Amino acid sequence: MLYHSTRSNENAVDSAQAVLNGLAPDGGLYVPEKLPQVDVQEILKMDTYAMATAIIGAMLPDIPGMETLVHNAYSGKFSASDLTPTVPAGEFSVLELFHGPTSAFKDVALCMLPQLLTAAKTQKGMQEDILILTATSGDTGKAALEGFKDVPGIKICVFYPHGGVSKVQRAQMATQEGNNVTVLAVEGNFDDAQTGVKNIFATVKDDLTPGGARLSTANSINIGRLAPQITYYFKAYADLLRRGTIQMGDKVNFSVPTGNFGDILAGYLAKKLGLPVGTLICASNANNVLTDFIETGLYDRRRPLHKTISPSMDILVSSNLERLLYLMTGDTELVASLMKQLNENGFYQVPESLQNAIRAEFWGGCCDDEQAKKTIGQVFQNTGYLCDTHTATGWAVAEQYQEKTGDKTPMVVLSTASPYKFPAAVLSALEENSDPDEFAKMDRLCELTGVKIPENLVNVRYKKELHTAVIAKEQMLSKVLYL
Ligand SMILES: *Cc1c(COP(=O)(O)O)cnc(C)c1O
Repeated sequence: MLYHSTRSNENAVDSAQAVLNGLAPDGGLYVPEKLPQVDVQEILKMDTYAMATAIIGAMLPDIPGMETLVHNAYSGKFSASDLTPTVPAGEFSVLELFHGPTSAFKDVALCMLPQLLTAAKTQKGMQEDILILTATSGDTGKAALEGFKDVPGIKICVFYPHGGVSKVQRAQMATQEGNNVTVLAVEGNFDDAQTGVKNIFATVKDDLTPGGARLSTANSINIGRLAPQITYYFKAYADLLRRGTIQMGDKVNFSVPTGNFGDILAGYLAKKLGLPVGTLICASNANNVLTDFIETGLYDRRRPLHKTISPSMDILVSSNLERLLYLMTGDTELVASLMKQLNENGFYQVPESLQNAIRAEFWGGCCDDEQAKKTIGQVFQNTGYLCDTHTATGWAVAEQYQEKTGDKTPMVVLSTASPYKFPAAVLSALEENSDPDEFAKMDRLCELTGVKIPENLVNVRYKKELHTAVIAKEQMLSKVLYL
């Protein structure tokens, strides 16, 4: 199956090569020439592993042995045997995506990506090692490290801002095991780390290091990260069917806490593959560029970035939105022109027809930190369900949606992180607590709510720190050349 750039129909590559390339050479994102056909009714009868095999296999048919890859990716790594359970909570259902090795939804994709990369590499007869470089503000780095640790033929180096991640996040990365991992704290903020990584790519010729490794990234623009995320929309639908919440063919709405627009785009792809999805609700925090965009058709990044209690959504440019613009128009020239405007002017306005098409499928809303905390408290009190800060954003915006539209279609809220990944903010929603120690807060949250702490987060405080280096941002390049 051929993939080409969102910005041009030329230079199409097969799905294995698209995974290896990550980004298309013209800076666009890979999109399929034509979406595959799948048998939705059959898929809905399958278990999660078979669903993943069918869906990822349909999206990436040039990568052989999908069943084994799925098994290797997930088996024994998730605390839920069905990987992504859907649980009822009050009026809504919650799709829990955080039962993976780092308790964040990114595990679903980042457990699978190394398998896909390795298989694509073999398929293409690529000899050299791949070196994954990732700058992280917290969540992605740890999920990528866990996904790639000890994978033969691949090495990974993660940079995080020194003093710029939470204590739990730092502990998660500093204690990382694996014989192919490097973790470095960089003096500076997240932007410095990210700019440093971009500079490495710009400096290393043909992305081949003098040490003989081919540079790549693990960020969510890779189609190999997007494809695995389609599965859990089918899984959630199947769970609602089994529970009798819906009948086959009924529509379901999904509320998705959104940052880079990868998670919600996977929902749109599920709909395009034939799943009866109603409205996709795009939930933002105070960084509400997408809320404004869905309302007005104007994407405008010229505004300050707010630091919030849902940091994984603190984003001004949602890269995967570019894929939606293409999927809705099929017009590579239009997408290329809009992306050029965004790059040069910091904003773009989509044509009215496209704006209407987007508004027919998506609804955007936002919720600030105060509202998110209030939601955590109310949801816990009313339903006994404990949300993290990102999930609370999705919940609050789902409520806004129902109030404003009166649409009572069954609602699934995607839960993207365990509450114990953000214990300070979650606890502060339930009580005043002045203990400065994040691990003490984790324990207190558990005592107060009776919700179990995921094992990986219990253990991290006792693990030996293996990565303590702090480097200047000017040292980033030299650190990776011979890895
Ligand atoms: C990454 C992340 C998100 C946002 O997902 P996108 O695919 O970037 O939109 C939401 N919540 C959590 C906890 C995340 O880690």
